[in-house]
Amino acid sequence: MEIKTIMVIGAGQMGSGIAQVAAQSGFTTILHDVNKEAVQRGLQGIQKSLAKFVEKGKLSAEEMEATLGRLQPCDDMAAAADCQIAIEAVVENMNVKANIFRELDRLAPADAILASNTSSLPITEIAAVTSRPEQVIGMHFMNPVPLMKLVEIIRGLATSDETYETIEALSRHLGKTPATCRDVPGFISNRVLQVMINEAVWCLYEGVATAEDIDMIMKLGMNHPMGPLALADLIGLDTVLAILEVLQAGYGDPKYRPCPLLRQYVKAGWLGRKSGRGFYRYG
Ligand code: NAD
Repeated sequence: MEIKTIMVIGAGQMGSGIAQVAAQSGFTTILHDVNKEAVQRGLQGIQKSLAKFVEKGKLSAEEMEATLGRLQPCDDMAAAADCQIAIEAVVENMNVKANIFRELDRLAPADAILASNTSSLPITEIAAVTSRPEQVIGMHFMNPVPLMKLVEIIRGLATSDETYETIEALSRHLGKTPATCRDVPGFISNRVLQVMINEAVWCLYEGVATAEDIDMIMKLGMNHPMGPLALADLIGLDTVLAILEVLQAGYGDPKYRPCPLLRQYVKAGWLGRKSGRGFYRYG
């Protein structure tokens, strides 16, 4: 299959990052969101990120202009008719994702591949709402997408070898290293990561140490580039909570029980960097 156009659904931090990398790699890239402002914010974020690459000499001004020229903002799902690959990156909620995959299945060409950037939700279940489960796959990028090298590829029960091979090759074309995982709750990345983040929140909740000291211990002690609480703020605390709930429901194991402090922060609207406040304050 020749891939010319990629559609990204959801223009939040992940969707805009994926769209940036796709456009930088030469693909016509349609960036869609239900919220028009989110698309504009996404495009502004892309512009800022590309300008930083230019500043650092990693991208020429012409390449930046060409990349921006390949990006098509959009608020109509019907644009899916023009894509060979659709990558969904909306909120971590099964009902919302299922509705989008029903729409994509109806609107995208019959041979198009439908990928989800979900952090934890079952690809098999997402695929089952479509008439083409063999062409549905998990393509889990890491945050921030333009900088992080990994794509975790998740094969649903019905994902065909052909779909897998296309997405593996596409990941490399996007400059990423693919790693493959079976369709289990949280896959590998979040099954391991979120337990650590949740434990750090429990430490804060129990007053064992300050947020700064918890993060310092993991940074300087374990050589992690960011502490778990700062990383949770980057991911978004609503997303962290949603993933832990998927892990808890999927494995039925109390070790995934989200810390009450995390729930409280999400209820307060303290979602991390994207809302200006989480475990730390921003802006
Ligand atoms: P975000 O809150 O930054 O963005 C979500 C976007 O989805 C918003 O712009 C919202 O308007 C849009 N949206 C909601 N419903 C929609 C619909 N029906 N149609 C189109 N757009 C819709 O969230 P994010 O951090 O970008 O996360 C998006 C997905 O990526 C989630 O599934 C998340 O689990 C996954 N993910 C997140 C991270 C991370 O570090 N944040 C990392 C990897 C994967």
